[in-house]
Amino acid sequence: NKGVTGTLDTMIIGGGQAGLAIGHYLKSQGRKFVVLDENPRIGDAWRQRWDTLRLFTPAKYDGLPGAPFPADPLSFPSKDDVAAYLEGYAARFELPVLNGVRVQRLWREADRFIAASNGHRWEARNVVVATGSSQSPKVPGFAAELAPAIVQFHSSEYRNPAQLQEGPVLVVGLGNSGAEIGIEVCRTHQTLLAGKPAGEIPVRHGRTAARFVLPLVRFLGLHVLTLSTPIGRKAAAAVKAHAAPLIRTKSKDLAAAGVRFVPRVAGAENGLPVLADGTRLEVSNVIWCTGFKDDFSWIDPALLDDGGLPRQERGVALDSPGLFFLGQEFMYAAVSATLPGSCRDARYLAGRIPVPVSLEPASAA
Ligand code: FAD
Repeated sequence: NKGVTGTLDTMIIGGGQAGLAIGHYLKSQGRKFVVLDENPRIGDAWRQRWDTLRLFTPAKYDGLPGAPFPADPLSFPSKDDVAAYLEGYAARFELPVLNGVRVQRLWREADRFIAASNGHRWEARNVVVATGSSQSPKVPGFAAELAPAIVQFHSSEYRNPAQLQEGPVLVVGLGNSGAEIGIEVCRTHQTLLAGKPAGEIPVRHGRTAARFVLPLVRFLGLHVLTLSTPIGRKAAAAVKAHAAPLIRTKSKDLAAAGVRFVPRVAGAENGLPVLADGTRLEVSNVIWCTGFKDDFSWIDPALLDDGGLPRQERGVALDSPGLFFLGQEFMYAAVSATLPGSCRDARYLAGRIPVPVSLEPASAA
């Protein structure tokens, strides 16, 4: 079983930034734990994103606990820089990550949790689910009705414009992915963008913003827009409806680059996408920038609510002692699924995972 036997104190499922950050805290507490991750290499979740992706958070906010991000603090690292940083982080702190382990089932037996993967089992008294919020791409059902001649894929499969065939591209969804992919593909292809932005951060993103404005945005995202405030709960509802503001690429940048805006895509007719106003679009490519849905189908439903979602408060399961969640959208604050937010939440959770008797300080008696 990949070298781990007996009952662990804690297992962390998912070895992205969230899993590594909480791993760092558990290691400093001297706990016996393991991080299980399905990818072959630490950092792969970032490596698999599109080639030109740069973070919208400046390097000064991208470090995990104990290791500042090694770059100009006002620069915006590339996705490969992040992947390399995460891999180096796990090595530097000797975090016990087992790669190539996809947990297919998680359930509770008496006072311990069991994770199963391809015939192997891991047992632990506590489990942290840190599998990210971008595991399961969301694409409308009518995508299957588009003609096979149309090249189509989700933003999570987009790498660069070479994946597209000749002819117009329809980008569906005007969130940050739709805006960034749209502005890239419009350099080589006639591009239509369906959807409306849910607002825009009203400043030009870049070094000056990193110095003067993003500190305020970070403060709001960490401390004001939280589930403890009425305005934060309103923001959480908006995020659940997939309405996050545009950060770097704004609608006026897209218009200036030649992107044509069209109404919502409502369905498919004769193999072509149809807009809400009834227009049929003769496009050759469709990129679905339609976000992600939660997928906890591998977790025993008894550990989840009736809708198959975590029943938790700030990542602590409400009626399953020992079960924790980290890195989900708005788990506690607007930035809970980002680097700075998941690190803060990791520190909070690390203080709530029950300490095993062997690590409790000796009593004075
Ligand atoms: P992930 O990085 O997704 O890691 C989860 C890990 O769990 C993966 O390695 C996965 O393979 C593994 N896993 C999943 N299921 C299982 C299972 N059943 N068994 C075992 N392993 C499993 N945030 C920022 O702070 N700044 C940015 O600029 C930024 N840009 C982003 C751009 C894009 C396009 C996206 C999608 C997100 C961006 N984010 C950004 C948000 C966030 O920081 C990233 O999504 C980040 O990867 C989340 O880290 P994580 O550890 O929570 O999840």
